[in-house]
This record gives sequence, structure tokens and C-alpha cells, in this order.
Amino acid sequence: MTIEAIVLGSGKEVGRACLVIKGESGTIMLDCGVHPTITGLEAAPKLELVDIESISSAVLTHAHLDHSGAIPRLLKLGFKGKVIATLPTAALVGMMWRDQLSIMSREWPEESRLWDTKEMNKMLAKRLRYVTYEEKIKLPNGIKVVLHDAGHILGSSFVELEIDGLRIGYTGDLGTSSNHLQYWDASDLEGVDVLFCESTYGGVERKGREALERELIDAVRSTLESGGKVLIPAMSVGKAQEILLALKRHESKLPDVPVVLDGMAYRATRVYSQFIMYMSDKIKRTFIINGEDPFAWDRLLQPRTLKKRRRLVEHKEPCIFVAPSGMLKGGWSQWYLAKLAPNPENAVVICGYVDPQTPASEIVSGAKEVEVMDFIAREKVKVQINCKVYHIEISRHAMHSELCKFIATVKPETLVLIHGEEESIKKLIDSAGSYAKRIEVPINGSIITLKE
Ligand SMILES: [Zn+2]
Ligand SMILES: [Zn+2]
Repeated sequence: MTIEAIVLGSGKEVGRACLVIKGESGTIMLDCGVHPTITGLEAAPKLELVDIESISSAVLTHAHLDHSGAIPRLLKLGFKGKVIATLPTAALVGMMWRDQLSIMSREWPEESRLWDTKEMNKMLAKRLRYVTYEEKIKLPNGIKVVLHDAGHILGSSFVELEIDGLRIGYTGDLGTSSNHLQYWDASDLEGVDVLFCESTYGGVERKGREALERELIDAVRSTLESGGKVLIPAMSVGKAQEILLALKRHESKLPDVPVVLDGMAYRATRVYSQFIMYMSDKIKRTFIINGEDPFAWDRLLQPRTLKKRRRLVEHKEPCIFVAPSGMLKGGWSQWYLAKLAPNPENAVVICGYVDPQTPASEIVSGAKEVEVMDFIAREKVKVQINCKVYHIEISRHAMHSELCKFIATVKPETLVLIHGEEESIKKLIDSAGSYAKRIEVPINGSIITLKE
């Protein structure tokens, strides 16, 4: 009874996570994302390597597009099954897909779009199966699935799978210490036969969350106190909420200024407010005791029109802007950058990982001029970076020592390292390779025999 894994994406790269596990009793897919910096059909995993019709179910670990962005495409290729996800993941992914659809329709040639409105709506309305953490799911073909809290973003999970007697773990993206999410418990996967582990931050350590929050607050406060405005570009789902709660938690240390939460970051935060039961015990307790939505804050503003945004950036009073995208490629953050960065009194605070070849990465490396898309005028504009620049390592990803701790607790027979650059994977093998009997580092298209 052979069981094999086909790695369709995220082999020695960060992005387009997609695995297929094929056993005697059936075939299941884990995630189906897109590559964040590639456009067109090339952004998708190597779906042509498998017979999509033979896949009876798929699991979506969380809403980020590098895990979810190619899922509606499965319908184009004959997928008949359901996609298992937690309810908050389902609620967030619709928002992510609508945003992705508008980017594809605006910027991608028609023949290279991965999917269309019809497939997205069908997936959302008919093909998602909502589950909760720890629910024991038994599929008709006998495959067993449990989703455990991964603490990465709202609703994120790591997967425990049993197929033809083989126990398999798949991390999706693992979280780090957070001001609102529960921390993961690796013992749920203890002793699995195979662990597919993400390696994004292999070899990278960062300061503790408290120290990083202090750095953030200091940067914001000093700019506001000298009369400047602060732009914090942030990914809509996960990062924006982490930053918002950090600002709120330290509000007594900050001047009383408006906090503008723009675009999808605002909409995603409203979804966060609906799912307090998926958050940390501390957040749940505060809610029970005070009846308070942890994300509600009287300083928050959501500008709905261009006129309002203009008024806010032109007003002489200090202000904080939290807007997607985090890397200043797409979204309102690039519009705010063009307005705020030329003024030396202002500051831009970049938080966490930046992809090379993005305006955020150029700014962090000290560029004095960057090019961004003015999506109102629909043209590229050059922006002078005269403002202060801060780079603070606030992230929603587990760092090196946490990934090692996860592997050390699980102690799998076979460890498969994916979702990371080659350098990061090497560093993880150096530190945690000894906890497994066999290590695999696949590339996209690799087939790994898990059981002969
Ligand atoms: Zn993620
Ligand atoms: Zn990821």
C-alpha cells in the first residue's frame, strides 16, 4: 500500500503552498496558494502534475493568498470535492479572493487569470466545509483530519491527517507570540510518521514581542510629538490587527491622535471582532468581563472617500495611518506614502519581512527615491523619501528557535522541509535535523514516497 506526497508548490520557496497526499483509500490536497511576486498562470502551483478530479477533498490552513489564492482554480480543473477550513478562515478568504480578483482583472491579461467570479462564488457558496479546531473529521474514504490552532492569523490551523494508517502533520504557517491569538501546541502532532514543516524564518531570530512593541511605540510617539504623521504599511489580515492592538494597548503613552485604518485592513478587523472565540484566553476573558470588542477603539477612523483621505493627509495635526499593503505594492499604503514620505517630519514604519524588489525593501535599504503606483491616477510616480524610516521586526511567523521547538516536540520519523528559501532550510536542518530519522527537502514537482 504505497502512500506518496506530491509537492506542487512551496518547494525551496516561500509561497504557493500546495501538497497532495495520495494513498490507497484516496487523495487529499493541503492548501493551494499563489506565489506572491509572480503574476499569471506561473503564480499557481504545478497543478498539471496531478489528476485534480481524483482529489476527493482539500484542506485550507488559513486565508493568506500564498495558501489559498489558487483554490477557486481547482473548480476550473474538475475538482468535485469540498475544501475543509475553519469558519473564520472561510470568512476571511472571501475577502482575500475578491481583492485578488480585482487585481487580476485590472492588471493581468485575460488569458493568464487563474479563475473568475463564477468559480470564486461557487467555491464560497457551495464547496467550503466549515469546521472548528479539534473537531474529528472522518471523510467518506476513511481519511481522518483534525485542524489545530496554529496561532498565525485568525482561524489559522496546522493539520493532523491519518491516511491508510499513516499519521501525517502539516504546519501551514506557524505563528509566534501574539497579543491576541493563542500560541500553538506542537504536542498535538507528537510522534507523527511524517511532518511537513514550514521553514520561512529558519535561521532568523528576533527580539521578544514586548521589546518590539516598545520599539514601535517609541518610533510612533517621537514622530507624533514632533508634529509629524506616521504611516504603517501592514498586511490586511494578521499584521494590521497585531499593530492595532499594540497601539491600543499603549495608548496612554501616545498623543491623542486619530488612527486611520484603511482598506481591507478595516474590513478584516471587523471579521476579527466576530470571532473572539478563536482568540487567546486573555482576549476571551476581557470580553467576558468587560463585554468589550478588543478591536473597538474610539480613536479609529475609516475613511471611505478620497476626499476624506486627502483631508486627513493635508490636515496639519499628527495622525497614524495603518494601511495595506505591507510592502507598499498595491493598496492604499502606496498612496499615503506618496503624500507623506517627502516631508521630513513624517515617518514610515515598515513592520516585518519585506520581499526583495518591493518599494518597502528599497526604503528599508536606504533608497531616497522609490517608484509606486498611484492607483487613482493609474500611473507610476516617483516618491522622494525624506521622512524617517523605521524597520521593526513585528511578524506573525514563528522564528528559528520556535520552528526548532516545534520539530523537537513532534519528533517525526520523516521531516519534510518546505515553504522556505534554501538557506533557511539548511539552518533548520543544522539545528533540528537530528530529531528526525529521515529528512527530505523537495522542489516543486518532487514525489516523496511516505510508505512503500
Ligand atoms: Zn500565512
Ligand atoms: Zn505562508
